[in-house]
Amino acid sequence: SGHEPQGLLRGLNPEQLAAVTLPAKSALILAGAGSGKTRVLTTRIAWLIQTGQLTPGGVMAVTFTNKAAKEMLTRLGAMLPVPVRGMWVGTFHGLCNRFLRAHWKLANLPQGFQILDSSDQLSAVKRIIKAMNLDDERFVPKQVTWFIAGSKEEGLRPKDVDVRDEQSRVMVQVYQAYEEQCQREGVVDFAELMLRTYELLRDNVALREHYQRRFRHILVDEFQDTNRLQYAWLKMFTGPQTAVMAVGDDDQSIYAFRGAQVGNMTAFEREFGVEQVIKLERNYRSYGNILDAANELISHNTNRLGKNLSTEAGPGEPVRVFEATSDFSEAQWFVDEARQLHRDGMARSDIALLYRSNAQSRVIESALFNAGMPYKVYGGLRFFERAEVKHALSYLRLIENPNDDTSFLRVVNFPTRGIGTRTLELLQDAARASGRSLSQSVTAVPGKGGSNLQAFVALIDAMREATKGLNLRQIIEHMLHESGLLDFYKTDKEGQDRIENLEELVNAAEAFVTQEGFGKDAVALPIDEHAGAIAEGLPKAVASVDLTPDAETGEIMSPLAAFLTHASLEAGDNQAQAGQDAIQLMTVHSAKGLEFDAVFITGLEEGLFPHENSVSDVDGLEEERRLMYVAITRARKRLYLSFSQTRMLHGQTRYNIKSRFFDELPESALRWLTPRNQGFGSGFAREYQSAWAKGSGLGSIVGAGNVAPRNAPASGPVTKSSHGLRVGQSVFHTRFGEGVLVTLEGTGDDARAQVNFGRHGMKWLALSVAKLTPIE
Ligand code: ATP
Ligand code: MG
Repeated sequence: SGHEPQGLLRGLNPEQLAAVTLPAKSALILAGAGSGKTRVLTTRIAWLIQTGQLTPGGVMAVTFTNKAAKEMLTRLGAMLPVPVRGMWVGTFHGLCNRFLRAHWKLANLPQGFQILDSSDQLSAVKRIIKAMNLDDERFVPKQVTWFIAGSKEEGLRPKDVDVRDEQSRVMVQVYQAYEEQCQREGVVDFAELMLRTYELLRDNVALREHYQRRFRHILVDEFQDTNRLQYAWLKMFTGPQTAVMAVGDDDQSIYAFRGAQVGNMTAFEREFGVEQVIKLERNYRSYGNILDAANELISHNTNRLGKNLSTEAGPGEPVRVFEATSDFSEAQWFVDEARQLHRDGMARSDIALLYRSNAQSRVIESALFNAGMPYKVYGGLRFFERAEVKHALSYLRLIENPNDDTSFLRVVNFPTRGIGTRTLELLQDAARASGRSLSQSVTAVPGKGGSNLQAFVALIDAMREATKGLNLRQIIEHMLHESGLLDFYKTDKEGQDRIENLEELVNAAEAFVTQEGFGKDAVALPIDEHAGAIAEGLPKAVASVDLTPDAETGEIMSPLAAFLTHASLEAGDNQAQAGQDAIQLMTVHSAKGLEFDAVFITGLEEGLFPHENSVSDVDGLEEERRLMYVAITRARKRLYLSFSQTRMLHGQTRYNIKSRFFDELPESALRWLTPRNQGFGSGFAREYQSAWAKGSGLGSIVGAGNVAPRNAPASGPVTKSSHGLRVGQSVFHTRFGEGVLVTLEGTGDDARAQVNFGRHGMKWLALSVAKLTPIE
């Protein structure tokens, strides 16, 4: 059975078996997509525990996405008879959060510290730029935010950053002010979670040695995407007795733009004393045609460590390619195909649609919505990021921590309380002058504005008092009423939706408490570990300062604080739709490590995928190609590729040519649902494009709707109304394929054609309905 060590190993191939059962030394597994890397990693954990080589508390496993971490816990749960919930399995950020919750005092954080998501971070930076009177065209808030995150990911504090010129000198000042502001408010951003953890371990020998002794095995999935800080972080946890297993695939490195370093793999081999690199060469995920497409595509990259990948599954279905006339018709085609797959027995959750940019999801979402098909979007505007939900969360955060200035500013005048910009400026000046939080400074503001501010602070204080001892649901309901949010949305015209989302927030809290088990990620160390820490010789001072749970309840943080943490960390998961059989929509980046029976890769157009920001340099283009490789290799049984002649993006109609990646796929693995080299994706379009957009660096033609290049020279696709067809002509039909036109009758809407489709026989078609494309 699966609960015996031998059962666990059943079905592994010899290389996988070797990897799973390696002696406790550091090891590197370098292997292509779908070769079982994650399976090896998970099985190894289970096997080590099953055979008594490891206790569940002695292992740490790191993955990149919440979804992957959950999946790993689920797989472990199925393999092991022990509870897996308390195990240190999670994302880098999730584990850092857990660590800092346990050691908040040493880390110089308030106990209930909250996490800033990227939009909070941006608004915090905007405030500073304004307060420092800087020109926000020279110091663009987004860029400053990247600068700060980038510095942190390099392990650099403001004092460590190299100042080269006036611009960077000011940037560093903003960084400094931002840090002070976060510290004052008791909030941390994502990069800070990592950096704080790293620094604390670096500077505190006792703590470091404690963790190094504790974790006998550390396993890191998707190692190719680690950045410099994550690598240094990993080293902090690694002691002389720690065995680190890193698994990765250089061909799937897709975060170089965020500082990830494939070089970490070679550094790891050297610095961790890896004796032998294990390669897995058999792909278990995809059928042959899909794998051929992936292999052929990635062979166009030059910077590769070199791996082979083959499958014993047959060729399977061909990779289907579809050319749409517009993004709407692309979406409609997808809905029809997905519906058919579902009718034929595929679960909706086994169907994924991937896109390069979040902005592409809107059209698809509305097509799915109109068709009444359940779907779930990962990324994009997520549940916890919707305005009304953020407002509610801000009130909750203020209840938890009145000094959270970001939350304060978000809701101090929402719903309106007669607090204007001028009053808020006075308040911010006063707070800055005294180095205190906004909430602590309200008495410094004179007049009506000041008394309104005081009333707001009193309102929050009253909520805090009134919610003491209530459960999470009751706290949220109380807040929704007392804050005025519910009343406000009742009068708002889009209010109904928003009220539903607020109700959903209550549900999410309930689910968090009951199903998930409160504080799954948040509660740092169970009480017995507290004792364990002392027993393991951690100096008492360290142990008692950090690991003391609440004397009465044993809790390390309040349920509310735990829930708020959950909301920031798991913003990607829409609770509302959890558990439903829904079609999966996500960016290629967030599909990493996942697999689906059917995968649709949409928007395969020059400028979109490969992205126009990347096509100008070789490295950028190779990263796009790896991204495409990741996308293709998500598919188990069926792969669909689509592109569209036109697309509305950012308010403009773009006229596209198909992605260069099509030229890098083996023709033998493809089946074109629309004629190849017809329509706008043809050579004609390419010439037209290069003449039109010469030197602009844009991969597609952007223009107003009425300059459709299709009206120019005559080789564009023939439209239905002006069906310039002639008898004897070869035509293509999406369902029946190639045929020869035998008879034409009628005109306008009544026009009909008789076509001989060979294998599919002779058909009569109404030209106003059937899409017939002429083939030269
Ligand atoms: P990626 O690079 O995309 O993360 P991976 O190398 O981590 O892929 P897994 O997700 O571990 O690959 O495995 C791919 C699929 O192959 C999974 O469905 C897994 O269960 C299956 N698989 C792996 N090894 C075997 C095996 N020996 N026998 C049968 N199925 C296997
Ligand atoms: Mg994997």
